[in-house]
Amino acid sequence: DTETLAQIKEIISSKNVELIHLQFVDIEGILKSVTVTVEQFDDVAAGKQMFDGSSVKGFSPINKSDLYLIPDYSTFAVLPWTVEEGYSEARFLCSAANPDGTLFEGDTRNVLKKTVKRAADQGYTISVGPELEFFLFKADENGNPTSELGDNGGYFEPSPKDLGERVRLEIYRALKAMGFTIEASHHEVAEGQHEINFKYADALGAADMSTTYKWVVKTIAQKFGLHATFMPKPVFGINGSGMHVNMSFFKDGENAFYDESDELQLSTEAYQFIAGLVENVKSFAAITNPLVNSYKRLVPGYEAPCYIAWSASNRSALIRIPAKKGMATRVELRCPDPSANPYLTFAVIASAGLDGIEKELPVSASINEDIFHMTEERREELGIENLPGSLEAAVAELQNGEIGRKTLGDHVFNEYVAAKKAEWDSYRTAVHSWELDNYQSKF
Ligand code: GLN
Ligand code: MG
Ligand code: MG
Ligand code: MG
Repeated sequence: DTETLAQIKEIISSKNVELIHLQFVDIEGILKSVTVTVEQFDDVAAGKQMFDGSSVKGFSPINKSDLYLIPDYSTFAVLPWTVEEGYSEARFLCSAANPDGTLFEGDTRNVLKKTVKRAADQGYTISVGPELEFFLFKADENGNPTSELGDNGGYFEPSPKDLGERVRLEIYRALKAMGFTIEASHHEVAEGQHEINFKYADALGAADMSTTYKWVVKTIAQKFGLHATFMPKPVFGINGSGMHVNMSFFKDGENAFYDESDELQLSTEAYQFIAGLVENVKSFAAITNPLVNSYKRLVPGYEAPCYIAWSASNRSALIRIPAKKGMATRVELRCPDPSANPYLTFAVIASAGLDGIEKELPVSASINEDIFHMTEERREELGIENLPGSLEAAVAELQNGEIGRKTLGDHVFNEYVAAKKAEWDSYRTAVHSWELDNYQSKF
């Protein structure tokens, strides 16, 4: 680590870094940041930056509020959009620590580290490739989002219809300068919807990248007079935004999900992993799909799943096995959306998969028919269950299930459940425009 620190100091001086942003996330995965001057760097690197944990959602009570930020050197990046002659800014993603130096259990980044360790104890490293979709809306003269979409392009539509090409280019350049490997970018199915894909990484690295990606997309979009949103279903009647999570486990440098001799070229562990997801998905949906709005995406007809089934290719299934095999063999879970906290999301998915492997769970039969157009009787016949239909139902499943508390730990679990219940209650008691539209003149 000393060498990395020396390298960071070298960049700080050669790029004339003047300000350093120390970033971390709250329980919902929302980015927080405190800015220090470069003169403070030695103290910051030594973990001496204190903050008030009682003012961060889901963190500590007021009587135990002093926490410290431990910068993760691997996340150091100069911010390309700040660079000018003789000046630049940089950032670190940080973990929160208690005054005694132990990792603070209320920090969701630390939650994921625990799951990574649980996998490592069984010889696995977790590899994650998330795909985060987003919408670009026009912003008004005050920079506030309007309901007008950035363009009316469709899937893989090029310019002149795709007005997002220029923004995506700038996002790609910024991410690349910050160390991302960008693989592809395209206009998505819905008007104003886009996706930029970065290379898979270890679970913590992929969660850090997801956090950074969301921040950079919003930051660059703003420079174009646009508002980027990762809200799962911003417009009724068209596709919502997903965060498909591609996951595989590696053991001794080999992809543990790959078995050449199997019909689908999947190993026993891969089938058990899938069985673990099928078994636990209802109880972890409140993590992967955390908003009231998340459940408006999980409806038939928009390439988002709503039934619990797996398939080798079927995009109406919850779990899909992408065609690429060998080292690229992976399982794609399609329910998560990009409003989810990526640290908690990757932790619960990996944890559910590990449970499947530990308990040697048998996998259900794969479903290759189009599930969106199946009759209810046929689904019942095949034993296909529904994902929770609302945040309320999902939170109840989370509370009654085991996977949440086991993976999140008591602190994050209790805070999360309380926050989501409050969110549901606020929604439940509000009067929405749909109600006025349908009832006000009729009754
Ligand atoms: N937007 C879809 C979803 O909600 C996914 C579409 C796609 O990537 N093919 O998950
Ligand atoms: Mg994709
Ligand atoms: Mg997509
Ligand atoms: Mg996908």
